[in-house]
Amino acid sequence: MLLKKHLTPELREELKNRVTPNGVTLDYVANSGMQNPDAKIGVYAGDEESYSPEFFGKLFDAIIADYHVFGPEDRHVSDLNPAHLHGAPNLDPDGSFIISTRIRVARNPAGFAFTPAISAEKRLEVERLMVSALESLSGDLAGTYHPITGMDEETRKQLVEEHLLFRDDDKHVADAGIYRDWAEGRGVFLSHDRKFGVWVSEEDQRIFSLEDGADLSSVFDRLCRAALALEDKVPFAKHSRYGYLTSCPTNVGTGMRASVMIKLPKISRDEKAFKELCLSMGLQARGMHGEHSESGAGGIYDISNKQRLGKSEAELIQILHDGILKLIEMEREAPQAAAA
Ligand code: ADP
Ligand code: MG
Repeated sequence: MLLKKHLTPELREELKNRVTPNGVTLDYVANSGMQNPDAKIGVYAGDEESYSPEFFGKLFDAIIADYHVFGPEDRHVSDLNPAHLHGAPNLDPDGSFIISTRIRVARNPAGFAFTPAISAEKRLEVERLMVSALESLSGDLAGTYHPITGMDEETRKQLVEEHLLFRDDDKHVADAGIYRDWAEGRGVFLSHDRKFGVWVSEEDQRIFSLEDGADLSSVFDRLCRAALALEDKVPFAKHSRYGYLTSCPTNVGTGMRASVMIKLPKISRDEKAFKELCLSMGLQARGMHGEHSESGAGGIYDISNKQRLGKSEAELIQILHDGILKLIEMEREAPQAAAA
């Protein structure tokens, strides 16, 4: 766990009495890791200040450098121009492997605590801010906000099943304080065609573009338009070197996770080896219902870029694209399982 690796006794001593203006302490940012020995990272920032050298910057810097392989002189530059995506044609035109493609970016309104540490009152203010910005979008980005509070159970389940809504049952997230006052102030905005949406006050504000099939360019184009249109209305928290700031340090930089839901039954039979293979290509394999979920029947995985900082959005998508092409080729060439 990166928390345990980098929070040395000396560093703990140095940081232990610090409190950010939003009341965030070291014990608070480290709680999820302390409660969950299987956590890979273990820390969540409570606010922008958590990343500052005045507060817990030394800890976050070490974790960020380790996870993203980010040097002390490196600076993040974002590039949300779809024209800069080169050579990423449809990954699976026949639809033999890829079910759907999703790209999300994580953002947080500047001047507010992040969801792990925000007050109930401020969370409602963030919801009003986000919904008002979202309701001003037009064209294919226009849609409706669906608050979780008051939603009928049938609709809620259906939206979760369709990967359009988040839940409150991930222990790592719970121990970070993100589900406090559930489900007040949370919901999902969905465009009429449901290919664009925003999760309001999940781990961050999560802007996503999602469609069936494997057309990365189309999904990225919509994502860029949405993220830029929203940033016009809501200034987001940014860091001079780390770009967009997020609750979890794995997301700083682009805040972007681009993924395909893909069927690879043969090469994923040995799941551990398969996950290692993905990592060696700069990719991460998750289960069929997101982080900490199981793979779907028939070897269905959500595979995405692992790194989010130090490379532009277009470059990260290229890594995903090239890696997925390789995995598909390996799946095609893998021998059939021996009959039982
Ligand atoms: P993130 O933290 O990036 O938002 P999660 O692992 O929490 O991702 O998953 C969020 C939701 O998005 C889950 O329902 C997951 O199955 C869904 N999802 C991720 N990638 C895809 C994809 N390519 N197609 C469809 N749904 C996806
Ligand atoms: Mg998530």
